[in-house]
Amino acid sequence: MKLKVLSNDSDTNKIGEFPCTSCHTNCCKEYVIFVNAHDIYRLSDGLGFNPENFLEIYGAKDFDLGINVQEGLLDLALKQKDGGCMFLEESKDVFRCTVNDFKPGVCKSYPFQMRNGKLIQMDSKLCPVEWNAEEFENMMSIHLKKDECEWKFYDELVLEWNTKNQTKKPLSAFLKFILDRVSLEFTKS
Ligand code: SF4
Ligand code: SF4
Repeated sequence: MKLKVLSNDSDTNKIGEFPCTSCHTNCCKEYVIFVNAHDIYRLSDGLGFNPENFLEIYGAKDFDLGINVQEGLLDLALKQKDGGCMFLEESKDVFRCTVNDFKPGVCKSYPFQMRNGKLIQMDSKLCPVEWNAEEFENMMSIHLKKDECEWKFYDELVLEWNTKNQTKKPLSAFLKFILDRVSLEFTKS
């Protein structure tokens, strides 16, 4: 299903065209992409990579939700390369995601987010056009709900880890802990 572009004053997009098709993927260059346990599991499993090959650590802003490990109080995001996400590649002047099947939930949702059960379009979005929120919600409602649940699941895992591991363990132990839990979830379902 294609999304309609509401604004028709852009010279780079046509009504009815999916906005990303003719965009220069500014979103993949400007943002740090924070990831949760399910995102890390899908990328690691899909690409056959050790998560530490594609994860970058950042100092946690939120003390309650930061991961408490030997390396510090951390948040996890995708590594960057050449001023953009490491998975972004240029081919014939077009930038494209090379991990489309496994890309993080936030990448699929952008430029929308659920807030208090309501779909909102981010104020600071980088898209050169307006999206049709109603069509996006129809197309993405299952994904958006799943993404919200996955972040909740991750926040609970971090809380459990921080409570149980007062003697700090390395990040690799935390990664094993969350990947085992996601794997268990998939086995149950
Ligand atoms: S900035 Fe917006 S329109 Fe451009 S690729 Fe990202 S989501 Fe698509
Ligand atoms: S994973 Fe793909 S969609 Fe997400 S920021 Fe990286 S290149 Fe862009």
